[in-house]
Amino acid sequence: MVDTPLFRGKILASRTADDIIVQKYGINGKHMEIEMNIRAIIGEIDPNNGELAKTPERVAKSYDEFFSGYNADISQIASTFYDSKMDDLVILKNISFESHCEHHLVPIVGVAHVGYVPNRKIIGASKLARIVDCFAHRLQLQERMTIEIGETLETILNARGVGVYIEAEHFCISHRGVKKQGAKLVTRYFSGALKDNLRQEFLATISEK
Ligand SMILES: [Zn+2]
Repeated sequence: MVDTPLFRGKILASRTADDIIVQKYGINGKHMEIEMNIRAIIGEIDPNNGELAKTPERVAKSYDEFFSGYNADISQIASTFYDSKMDDLVILKNISFESHCEHHLVPIVGVAHVGYVPNRKIIGASKLARIVDCFAHRLQLQERMTIEIGETLETILNARGVGVYIEAEHFCISHRGVKKQGAKLVTRYFSGALKDNLRQEFLATISEK
């Protein structure tokens, strides 16, 4: 079982300003704050376009979805485990995800593959996908997200090894700056048995069609 305060603490530490707004005005206050700021941005870009009146509200609602990971509680997502004699690799591959780059606030779109070697304990496969989303739905660096997913799986499963492989297109690379469409960033995390003898098997399995 995950220690909730540990995960909540990590999240809250970086959210002090948000929390003050939420405490003061409630969750709608945070919405209002986002809408107000988006209105200011639109004012700089296209100040005379009356068609955009409802855009700040739409953006604020979209942000609820894009950044829902800050409110996610890992101990709620991963609350049920099952006993198992399974002692070989368990892999959920091709988990599509969308995230947002914390440097440019533009999309990161990619695929994650996660695997582990159980230590008498397994978790529902859909929970693996939900854990990926929990970290993807935040402002992210792909490198950090990869480690966060790996360490979380290790903690909740006490697994004999964990592997995470993520490849993703970053819109800040494909749609601005160097504009390299199709370039993908690959990040990997291996621990325990996956760091040693099972790494190649994990990589072979995720590359099979
Ligand atoms: Zn970026």
